[in-house]
Amino acid sequence: MREPVLAYLALGANLGDAQATLLDAIMAIAASPGCRLRRRSSLYRTAPVDSAGPDYINAVIAVETTRTAPDLLRLLQALEVQAGRERPYRNAPRTLDLDILLYGDARMHSPQLELPHPRMYTRAFVLVPLAQIAPDRVTAAQLQAVADQACTRLDD
Ligand code: AMP
Repeated sequence: MREPVLAYLALGANLGDAQATLLDAIMAIAASPGCRLRRRSSLYRTAPVDSAGPDYINAVIAVETTRTAPDLLRLLQALEVQAGRERPYRNAPRTLDLDILLYGDARMHSPQLELPHPRMYTRAFVLVPLAQIAPDRVTAAQLQAVADQACTRLDD
């Protein structure tokens, strides 16, 4: 039996019922073998970074997992595909982005998987919810560096 590792995952969606997509994904991860949900941030509404379209809904969760990092990524990618297929009507778009931010203190640099996530420190929609549930993993200077990016905490 592998020792469990605490991983931090980022969730984002900006098409369809983004809040429902995110909450469904969190429940699906929590119900997956080898995963135990430890913490969940609030939901945040954020303006798109490097893209157009509706605002995003974002969140970060802490998951204790016995899965390897590549196996955890495969789970997340399967859930992304599944969310894309759950369409309320024909051709209705619905996207879900799931990223591994941190996997314990692991460092990995493969084409499939980079840890820590290479862009996490430039994005308020990752750092702000991460700081909410894991203040020890984000510094004040890192938060200050993304303070110009709008990131509104929603009641949930
Ligand atoms: P995107 O859907 O734009 O977030 O990109 C997904 C791609 O990034 C996939 O091909 C993954 O293999 C790759 N990737 C690299 N590092 C990570 C990570 N830490 N979490 C999620 N995907 C990653």
